[in-house]
Amino acid sequence: MLNLPQKTFEKIKKVLLRQEKEIEKEIKAIEKDDPVKGDGLAESSEPGTDSWMADMHGRALVLGQSLHTILANTKKSLANLRSGKYGKCENCGKQIEPERLEVIPTATLCLSCSRKKSSKK
Ligand SMILES: [Zn+2]
Repeated sequence: MLNLPQKTFEKIKKVLLRQEKEIEKEIKAIEKDDPVKGDGLAESSEPGTDSWMADMHGRALVLGQSLHTILANTKKSLANLRSGKYGKCENCGKQIEPERLEVIPTATLCLSCSRKKSSKK
């Protein structure tokens, strides 16, 4: 059983729920701004022919992708919160520091594992 204080738990849940909504809204806004979406031109645009469009599309893609990743992480954390699996390090299985979870509610690695991981890059 996870020994997160109830207060921390509730706080994290609130943050995650809000984050989920905000990101979904942002993704929709980005997709609306993407000039390529909906025109069926997606992969066929030639580089240089319409650099503004390609630029906008590229930006929307990159932004959209990172938002989708954050959204997926947020949803996963929420599912874990409900099932009681939240806060476990995916690498070593230890409990992630509550202070860390408060700062990064979607963290899936404990501090030492994430340090090891990022030092490898
Ligand atoms: Zn760990």
